[in-house]
Amino acid sequence: MTNSVSSSTAFDLVILGAGMTGASLVHLLQPALQTGMRIALIDRQQIHWTEDVLERPPSFDGRATALAWGSRQLLRRMGCWEALIDRACAIQHIQVSDRGRFGQTHLHASEQGTEALGYIVENAVLGRALLQGLGAYPNVTLLSDTDVQRVDMISGGSQLTLAGGESITTALLVLADGGRSGLAQQLGIRQQREEYDSVALVTQVEMDREHLHWAYERFSDHGPVAFLPLQQRHFAVVWTLPPDDCERILALPDPLFAEQLQQQIGYRCGRIKRIGERFSYPLALVCSCEQVRRGLVLLGNAAHSLHPVAGQGFNLALRDTAALAARLLESWAMKRPLGDLAVLLDYAQQQQRDQGNTIIASDLLPRLFAHPGKLTALGRGAGLMALASLTTPRRLLALHAMGLGQPAPRFASAPISAQSFSRLESADAL
Ligand SMILES: Cc1cc2nc3c(=O)[nH]c(=O)nc-3n(C[C@H](O)[C@H](O)[C@H](O)COP(=O)(O)OP(=O)(O)OC[C@H]3O[C@@H](n4cnc5c(N)ncnc54)[C@H](O)[C@@H]3O)c2cc1C
Repeated sequence: MTNSVSSSTAFDLVILGAGMTGASLVHLLQPALQTGMRIALIDRQQIHWTEDVLERPPSFDGRATALAWGSRQLLRRMGCWEALIDRACAIQHIQVSDRGRFGQTHLHASEQGTEALGYIVENAVLGRALLQGLGAYPNVTLLSDTDVQRVDMISGGSQLTLAGGESITTALLVLADGGRSGLAQQLGIRQQREEYDSVALVTQVEMDREHLHWAYERFSDHGPVAFLPLQQRHFAVVWTLPPDDCERILALPDPLFAEQLQQQIGYRCGRIKRIGERFSYPLALVCSCEQVRRGLVLLGNAAHSLHPVAGQGFNLALRDTAALAARLLESWAMKRPLGDLAVLLDYAQQQQRDQGNTIIASDLLPRLFAHPGKLTALGRGAGLMALASLTTPRRLLALHAMGLGQPAPRFASAPISAQSFSRLESADAL
């Protein structure tokens, strides 16, 4: 791994954004790195490395991420799961309920024949696992604390002008620079943006008893609150609120905040003993109108950023990333240009259905469950009761929550290695 460039350096692939998506793409391309693919990973935030210890990963804040079972499998193939295993809490049961009304449903991993319905990992831990592993790869240039000021599409790829004045070229540019991608805008790529008029309040709590691997999703007329299990008595909390309520609640002293939160979740998971730092995120559904062009791909939040209620944003991004990596490995093995439009369109088409289904589900849930009308409330109570008694819809819901309702990414089941690259070269693994 190197961390500087001189002007006119040429790369096969430049990934803008070393967040969860950008870092994952590097891991998934590991076999091609072993055979000479040159990748630059650029982030405007500073990444400090001291004796291989990452001090402050970029974009990995106080949140926690619910990883679907399918994502766990991908992280294992990327070689990152080992670093997470002691810190990822398995969800073995989920209770979905509606505040003040009858109707709740339970989902259990045992019914699905898997060891967990999903896992909860703190973003800081996930960031460390993803970024630390990159240090071992050859042919990766990490440019942190580096802003890209301008991108020009040129024949054979694109040219990027860095804030320091250097310019670099690449055959393929992947914009993984988040939901407000300035460079996509500069390239004239439009976004469809729909505000939810709500804010996600995120914190951690310690309860008076152990969670025993239960997660809770509770809906009310004010929006959903999720309690997601972390270490023993700790939960990550995501509480979706109207912006005014959120501002008021954020400003409450800890005991009053705890009281309000306790009212929201009830006593099903015990009594709140301690509250962690609180953060808030305004919520919107943002979809890019184009995801690929010749020599260009938008990935992760740059392509679609979703409501967090179903915990699907990164899970979907990871499925996209795995599908794209499979295409790029294939192109690399066949010595095809990485920016080939036909290949990139093929990737986009392959992911269209998964993206569409996930976006619709993550958009529908908050609308259905946040509507203040009584009929809707009765309807969702009845819906939850019906769900509790029907095996197939519960199974489908559970599969969706695990990320297994979608076609599996096209990778062999073993961790990625140079050997699996040879198999890809012989094309029978695809
Ligand atoms: C409250 C909340 C809870 C969530 N919970 C879940 C969950 O449980 N499960 C789940 O799957 N998803 C969840 N998500 C979604 C998930 O967090 C996102 O999908 C994920 O963070 C997207 O990562 P990314 O790498 O695409 O973008 P980002 O994390 O936004 O990273 C973009 C990176 O690009 C860099 N960058 C931007 N512009 C430039 C530039 N011009 N030059 C250089 N660098 C640049 C930034 O510094 C940043 O590091 C949640 C989201 C929210 C808001």
